[in-house]
Amino acid sequence: MTAELEVGLYIFLLAGFLGYHIITRVPPLLHTPLMSATNAIAAISLVGSLVVAGSDYSNVPDGWVCTLLGFVAVTCSATNAFGGFLITDRMLRMFKTAEQRARGTRRPAEVQFFGAVAALVVAAAALVYATKPAGMAMGLYLREHVAEAALRYCYIVSAALFVLGLKGLGSPRWARSGMAMAALGMFIAVVGTLFHPDVVHYGWVALGLLIGAVVGGTLGLRVPMTAVPQRTALSHSLGALAACLVGVSEYFRYQGELSRVTLTALDFEVVVGGLTFTGSLVAAAKLQELLRGRPITYRGQNVISLSLLVIIVGSGVYLVITQAATPFFYVMVAMSLVFGLLLVIPIGAADMPVVIALLNSYGGLADAAMGFVLMNKIQIITGALDGTSGFLLALLMCRAMNRSALNVLFGAFGRVSDEDVAAAAEAKGTVRSIAAEETAVLFETSSKVVVVPGYGMAVAQAQHAVAELGTILRARGVDVRYAIHPVAGRMPGHMNVLLAEANVPYEQLHEMEAINSFFPEADIVLVVGANDVTNPAAKSNRSSPLYGMPILEVDRAKSIIVLKRSMRPGFAGVDNELYYNEKCMMLFGDAKVSITKVISEMKSLL
Ligand code: NAP
Repeated sequence: MTAELEVGLYIFLLAGFLGYHIITRVPPLLHTPLMSATNAIAAISLVGSLVVAGSDYSNVPDGWVCTLLGFVAVTCSATNAFGGFLITDRMLRMFKTAEQRARGTRRPAEVQFFGAVAALVVAAAALVYATKPAGMAMGLYLREHVAEAALRYCYIVSAALFVLGLKGLGSPRWARSGMAMAALGMFIAVVGTLFHPDVVHYGWVALGLLIGAVVGGTLGLRVPMTAVPQRTALSHSLGALAACLVGVSEYFRYQGELSRVTLTALDFEVVVGGLTFTGSLVAAAKLQELLRGRPITYRGQNVISLSLLVIIVGSGVYLVITQAATPFFYVMVAMSLVFGLLLVIPIGAADMPVVIALLNSYGGLADAAMGFVLMNKIQIITGALDGTSGFLLALLMCRAMNRSALNVLFGAFGRVSDEDVAAAAEAKGTVRSIAAEETAVLFETSSKVVVVPGYGMAVAQAQHAVAELGTILRARGVDVRYAIHPVAGRMPGHMNVLLAEANVPYEQLHEMEAINSFFPEADIVLVVGANDVTNPAAKSNRSSPLYGMPILEVDRAKSIIVLKRSMRPGFAGVDNELYYNEKCMMLFGDAKVSITKVISEMKSLL
């Protein structure tokens, strides 16, 4: 083991532990921004991509292939960097307390960010100018004396800024400034890499950065908040593609003549990068409903997947042993791409959030592997941070759903079979329905209301109507609270982001453990498109697939009004006993339409 590899492994382990320590302190409120933040930080693959795109391949036969692969990798990584930081900032800007909303934005993070960048550039230029020996050309001085040290210091500073950036996500108060620091870290790392001794051609690098800025900027600024899950998946796929292409380029450049350790890391990089690329594409397509959401299964599925895995591992081992150019490398890359497809296709769309978090983790590992191949420490650090974050989020989601990761990946829980739906339709007691007019009257006589949002609120895009209803009730002196279940919706922190988008101050959002004891005091609980997270069977029915999952105990309130379109079950595919509770009334219809009607009825009652 070389000393460099040993140091790399230490860095990887320590960054992983540090990531675990920081990320476990991120509140569930900020889990969706955390996902896109780590995604943006993982765009550090840009650093390796820049080196590959900007290197001189005049001595390499068909060296243009390496430049082309590097250019595509720069474009993908830059798209992630620009898009990731912009959308994270858009989300974080929405998390405000009532006081902050009332007084407007006082600390514009953009001004701080650009101010810091300008100050840094000026300070660096002044330092270079002051230390340059008289009579020496600036270009020569930069190349001979500044480049190497600048690169090293830039990476150290950006690693510290990334860690501080993630630490900022520990509270909505510091989250924006934290992300501005992380973005600054990315800027410094990229600028530092431009001083890398291997980067000698800047044309393709500049073009890749420009395309990435335009595409990523457009995605980051235009994607609606309801489409954040699929954007995150798409972004993982681009990051993983960059890692895979950089690996292919390195193999092509050296024709396999690399040390066994480097070849092992390179195999890992292209395989994990390849399967994460196609797996994330399928996840994005399922979430965008371009592909059928139901699990797609076929005959001999396990045999085919296992055979592919054997071919991939076998090719990898052969490559490391022979240390020479062999077509097996390209077979291995192609098989990894197919394996990623086969891995995600059999999983239902509803389970995609866990899959995305796991793919996030794989993407981080591919980045770290790229760091080992190029012996780039900043990539090892961010790869470890990203890997830990994705893995932790996946585990948190599974725990909140009372399921194991294996069950999500290989179980059939996410399937809602026709029999289940039919069974759910069977009457299991009396269901009382209520009209918008009656609901408005009930609100008039209430003093404490809890709103329980769920996936249906996202589908109906009812968050603004929900917030308006809350504002009207508060204006009438009603105590309005929002109860947030950790896995309500389809992303961790999904409901927090949507309500923040609708300007609901985050101190009105209460986590499950905090709000459960308040339900007996509530006059009305308004359940907006939430189903599984309120199902009492999770506490009482041992045969229910939900048994053991902690729920929002809405059945303890004085009265419950449920907004949904039908008696169809939710994600778990099981009937909800709550709807037969004598305190429960169903306001059938699209949640947004129903709330809008209730609001206009309330206004007419004045
Ligand atoms: P849910 O159990 O999936 O139920 C959502 C309900 O919304 C459905 O019953 C549906 O009923 C209703 N709905 C859909 N469109 C609607 C519309 N336009 N207007 C009104 N209602 C509408 O949702 P949940 O209670 O939020 O629970 C989340 C589930 O997802 C849990 O089982 C959780 O384990 C799982 N999950 C969550 C995550 C995460 O990270 N958040 C990740 C993976 C899985 P109708 O069709 O009758 O309208």
